[in-house]
Amino acid sequence: MFVPLLDQGLIYIKGVGPTKSELLKNELAINTVRDLLLDYPMRYEDRTQFTLIKDIASNNEVVQIRGTLTNLALIGQTRKKRLVGTLRDESGSIELVWFRSIKWIMENLPVNRTYRVYGRVNLFGRRKSIPHPEIDNLSKPEELEQLATFVPVYRSTESLSASGLDSRGRRKVMQNLFQAITPTDLKEHLPAYLIEKLKFPSYFDAIRDIHFPKDNQALLQAERRLKFEEFFIMQIALIRHYFKNKQIHEGYVFEQIGRTFNEFYDKNLPFSLTGAQKRVLKEIRQDLKSGSQMNRLLQGDVGSGKTIVALMAMLMAIDNGFQACLMAPTEILAQQHYDSLTDLTGGSLNIRVGFLSGSIKGKTRQELLKLTRYGEIHILVGTHALIEEGVRFKRLGLAIIDEQHRFGVAQRAKLWEKGKELHPHILIMTATPIPRTLHMTLYGDLDVSVIDELPPGRKPIKTMHKTEYHRPQVIKFIKKEIAKGRQIYVVFPLIEESENLDLEDLNRGYERLLLDFPAPEFQISVVHGRMKQEEKDFEMNRFKDGVTHLMVATTVIEVGVNVPNASVMIIENSERFGLSQLHQLRGRVGRGADQSYCILMSSFKLTHEAKERLQTMVETNDGFEIAEVDLRLRGPGNLQGTQQSGVPTFKLANIIRDNDILKTSREIARRIIEKDPDLRAEYHLGLRAYLEKYHNERQDWSNIS
Ligand code: ADP
Ligand code: MG
Repeated sequence: MFVPLLDQGLIYIKGVGPTKSELLKNELAINTVRDLLLDYPMRYEDRTQFTLIKDIASNNEVVQIRGTLTNLALIGQTRKKRLVGTLRDESGSIELVWFRSIKWIMENLPVNRTYRVYGRVNLFGRRKSIPHPEIDNLSKPEELEQLATFVPVYRSTESLSASGLDSRGRRKVMQNLFQAITPTDLKEHLPAYLIEKLKFPSYFDAIRDIHFPKDNQALLQAERRLKFEEFFIMQIALIRHYFKNKQIHEGYVFEQIGRTFNEFYDKNLPFSLTGAQKRVLKEIRQDLKSGSQMNRLLQGDVGSGKTIVALMAMLMAIDNGFQACLMAPTEILAQQHYDSLTDLTGGSLNIRVGFLSGSIKGKTRQELLKLTRYGEIHILVGTHALIEEGVRFKRLGLAIIDEQHRFGVAQRAKLWEKGKELHPHILIMTATPIPRTLHMTLYGDLDVSVIDELPPGRKPIKTMHKTEYHRPQVIKFIKKEIAKGRQIYVVFPLIEESENLDLEDLNRGYERLLLDFPAPEFQISVVHGRMKQEEKDFEMNRFKDGVTHLMVATTVIEVGVNVPNASVMIIENSERFGLSQLHQLRGRVGRGADQSYCILMSSFKLTHEAKERLQTMVETNDGFEIAEVDLRLRGPGNLQGTQQSGVPTFKLANIIRDNDILKTSREIARRIIEKDPDLRAEYHLGLRAYLEKYHNERQDWSNIS
């Protein structure tokens, strides 16, 4: 059977036998010729410049020189034998020394020829030498072409190096490979009109130039095309998926705004909505009557008022004869939602809200499930217990997921199945601000609404950075706040790998707090990850009810807990938290009418990055701004809230640095798919074939929601 060169194993490349091909597979996961071609250099050494031998001045300097090998001789006794050559240019001479591969060198480096030599210089008095230089014969014209350029540096490993595949060895392999392949092997897959319009090099040229650029210009052109392509292919896949979703997933039509909604708006709504809340509701309303299934991500900073938006969307469902459900990641949060929804829907509204979690058992559970099945529960609030087998709705029209990043993709998919004839509309709410830059790549197939305005009258949280030196002052401050009737969070880091250590930190911190805030005057709650859920809930509730003044916790309180009277957040070892986590934690305060504070405690000594994190926190309360800084500091892969959905990684492109290219690629991809959704046009066939062949990986994260 014919196997295209790109799909072939490496054995057939000159210079790669079975052993090396096995090593490349095991060490670098390079299996095929294509893998090898796509394993781009890590960087390039500029070999366009030559140094004159007389100008070599410092030890260990790495130089490239051009000269004639005038002499090559074996020196020393058997055991300490070495090969010494003399290289001469118009300015002087230098010694080249080999301790190994002597036989090969003697056979392959004839004297009185011109060579290009590259290596690290040894200065010994006035004597200059280069041990084991890279050396190329400039008399062979076919090598010449590849020499006076940027030389690629490839990644390697110890075992690869040991068997000759260090960067240099890999370079030789690549050179051999490029002798063997032709533009027919590396077929173009971007449409010709695009290549022309954007003045891109062909695929073959780009791949060749990314490995062996003849100059900086060629390298930049190759990079420009390949980066574009990385974004473009992904955007095409995303947007295609998005359009398909719209077509395939017909949705329930919520025709009317009805009695409950209007009555709620007139009688129950405890405040007027912010402009952002109104806008988002309109967007949701449009979706719900469009006839396509809604898949919308609702982003809003902590405290921006997502709950009320969720409720009003659910009322739209109810008014059209449907049920709705709201799923939260923890029991406490679900309970909290249940409480506020029952509050908000009181009076003459006649809405029945149910609560389901793992702890609802026996008769109560049976009864609740029955009511849900009969459609007598209008809104079912709960934990992931909602997606269990036994939970059936009469007519589920809208499913809302709070704090989206705590749920896996698979769990979300299960919600889909709860619909009857059609999938329910889906609204995912998250407080983890995902920078707009990342949105385009991550959620290209979700619609996004943003609440970018806080309810009026909020006093911005004051954030301060303090060290151990200030502790007495901080303690005094806390006491003053407690005297005013406020409550305090004290948070310690929890990092999974060092759970024991963190627990120690927490316990030590707790003991110190007991000294500084002695009972009975002060009451302290403790919550950490090692406690049973009931214990945690018990302690949380004591704090919520105002029985305790301080809440000492690891990061378990991070998500959504609402205690409006808590107005001070102390974060210990704050340098160990990521930015978005700090921001989430800070969001626990600032929920009441009082001035709130966040105090970041840290040691004196901070890394540059930690300083920037803490400084950012002190300077801004804007979650999006913080997310952008976070993205810049940590790179997209580590951004909180994105692990499960899998931020795509690119070989060359960088979501932040190459944002312009990303935008261009997205616009072009959108236009193409709008005109030719199935890529059936003659000039798109190459693109389609490429997508079908190489872009299956995309599928596992295209099913978000
Ligand atoms: P989050 O977006 O973090 O879920 P919530 O929905 O819990 O925020 O709202 C935070 C607080 O702000 C709640 O106490 C809520 O009642 C209040 N709130 C929401 N919207 C408004 C508004 N438009 N005006 C005044 N207060 C509001
Ligand atoms: Mg919330």
